[in-house]
Amino acid sequence: MLPANAFRTGFRMAPAYVLVDAGKLDAFVAAIFRAAGCDAAEAGRISTHLLGANLAGHDSHGVARVPRYVEWLQAGYVLKGQTAEVVTDGGCFALLDGKFGFGQTVAPQAVELGIARAQQHGIAVVGLRNAGHIGRVGDYAETAIRAGLISVHFVNVAGSVLVAPFGGTERRFSTAPFSVGVPLPGRPLVLDFATSLVAEGKVLVASNGGKALPPDALIEPDGRLSGDPHTLYGDYAQVGPRNPANGKGAIRAFGEHKGSGLAFMCEMLAGALTGGGTSGPVAARTRIANGMLSFYVSPRHFGTEAEFHAAGRSYVDWVAACAPADAGAPVLAPGDKEAATRADRLANGVPLQPDTWAGILDTARSLGVNEPPG
Ligand code: NAD
Repeated sequence: MLPANAFRTGFRMAPAYVLVDAGKLDAFVAAIFRAAGCDAAEAGRISTHLLGANLAGHDSHGVARVPRYVEWLQAGYVLKGQTAEVVTDGGCFALLDGKFGFGQTVAPQAVELGIARAQQHGIAVVGLRNAGHIGRVGDYAETAIRAGLISVHFVNVAGSVLVAPFGGTERRFSTAPFSVGVPLPGRPLVLDFATSLVAEGKVLVASNGGKALPPDALIEPDGRLSGDPHTLYGDYAQVGPRNPANGKGAIRAFGEHKGSGLAFMCEMLAGALTGGGTSGPVAARTRIANGMLSFYVSPRHFGTEAEFHAAGRSYVDWVAACAPADAGAPVLAPGDKEAATRADRLANGVPLQPDTWAGILDTARSLGVNEPPG
């Protein structure tokens, strides 16, 4: 649902939100990446992926990233037009090197390979290393769902150390997201979250005056819990860059020892096993990159697809029919919230914080791209 204070204005600035039509936003962001030097296909992939995160309600991984992505491209930190290189090919398993290409280009290549191999063998494991920021991981689980496959994705951010392990106050993990996609008729499941209590993007959003953090999301070096973005970013101006290197605290891992353990495994599987590297120690790295280890399973090959669909779907509906603890908040299945937000935003527009929209317009102007008509 749109926030009550959203203000429908086309492309004009609004007090709390700018509401932008999804199709226009997609075309505008694609034009920005075209102007930045990407070919049309890559520019479209990046814009559609970022917009997809907004449509799913994960604004921290949406078009707010445009200025940073363009800066990274201009700095040579992420490279346009890359094709992931096959490092190892064992048929039902493979390892790809993304060569620091855009995550929205090399991750889909890895996913496409995993899907093709799982459709051939019934199961596939594909590692990807040295990928530029791959964005919202649930997007890749959704691609596998469209192909009728279950998928599990362990992801880390090599060289990015932001999260304190359970019982610790120092940064050791990346925000290491984890995702599982399950194809079910009419109500697919998409579990997709950072293993940090909040994604770093949510700290960024809070520091820009957006949704406040939970009061225990961060931890100070002395062990005090905090919901203040300064714990992560140190001192910063109201408008301008945020640098986690300036803060002394850390984001906490979610779920106490259990979430912390899952983050640990993301670093092991997506970082150490793929050869892309873990979150740290970071001394030798020049750039951060995503690693991902993905498992694909074909229910059709298991010979139980019909039973799986029937039993899975009836189970989801039974769980969701559980009496809610709060009468106004029904029990949801993983992916329900994103599906509802997507339907709403496709129909009514994508709400963006004014600072986010202003940042995108600045980047567009710097590349000679005109703001689209409202
Ligand atoms: P989140 O805390 O919003 O959790 C989202 C998950 O919880 C979804 O599966 C959603 O369906 C489910 N969910 C939400 N409300 C629910 C409810 N009431 N009942 C049942 N299930 C519910 O997600 P997050 O940790 O903020 O992560 C946001 C995004 O950031 C993800 O898409 C993730 O992939 C992405 N991310 C990417 C990177 C990267 O390096 N590329 C790093 C960190 C996070």
